[in-house]
Formats: sequence, structure tokens, C-alpha cells
Amino acid sequence: MIKCKLCGDIIFLPKTATFVEKEVYIPNFQSKSVEDGEMKKDFWMVKNMYEFANIGFSHNVKGSAKGATSTVTPIMPSSSDSSSSATPSSDGRVLPDHVRFLTCAACEQGPVGISLSGTEFLVEAHRVSYD
Ligand SMILES: [Zn+2]
Repeated sequence: MIKCKLCGDIIFLPKTATFVEKEVYIPNFQSKSVEDGEMKKDFWMVKNMYEFANIGFSHNVKGSAKGATSTVTPIMPSSSDSSSSATPSSDGRVLPDHVRFLTCAACEQGPVGISLSGTEFLVEAHRVSYD
């Protein structure tokens, strides 16, 4: 089974999710900002939200600004300082409106994963525990 690392709540029952390698940007665990994240590539995927045993959804990571506009926001994690002269990059680090974050249904910690569309739900493989 695949469980929440923090509280042990079951996220997937055995043999529900498929392991996929896919580069997807995801905010850091327990991050307060969607811009505070990185590219990950190890995910458990299901194509239907009903295949989760338990899961929560949110449009924003905890504490992020609510007045966000509907425009696509470029996400550019900076390795050094937060210089305002950063130029937009086109490497795909954008989070369109339909993106939702997956959180533990019990303790509400996350994001443990991300939903890029209504037919693709990805749980980051290193943010969950196994038994
Ligand atoms: Zn939990």
C-alpha cells in the first residue's frame, strides 16, 4: 500500500497506481508558495480520482496568495538571490489554472502530488511511504 508519510493514511490500495517517469514541476512539500518547488520525475499515476483510497485536492499550496489572477504564472526557482532581472524561461515551469495539488486527506499535508488535468493524477514517489 502507498501511504501518507506523516500520518499513515492510505493513499493507494495495492496495484491501483502505475509508476511513471515524467518530468513535472511540483511545489516543495509543505511549501507556502507554488513558486517554491522543483522538477520531479518519479510519480505514481492514476487516471481517475476514484482510484485513490484517500486524497485531498487544493488549488493552492497552503498560505499562498488568494488574489491570484487567471493568467499563467511562470515559475522560475532561482538558485541564488531573487534578482528582479530574471528573464522568463520557456522550460515548461508554468502552472495553468486547471492544475490542482494533491494533499493527504487526513492530515492535509502536501502537496504529495499534482493533477495536471482531469485524467492524470500524479503522486510524487518520494513523498509517500510504503508497506
Ligand atoms: Zn497524512
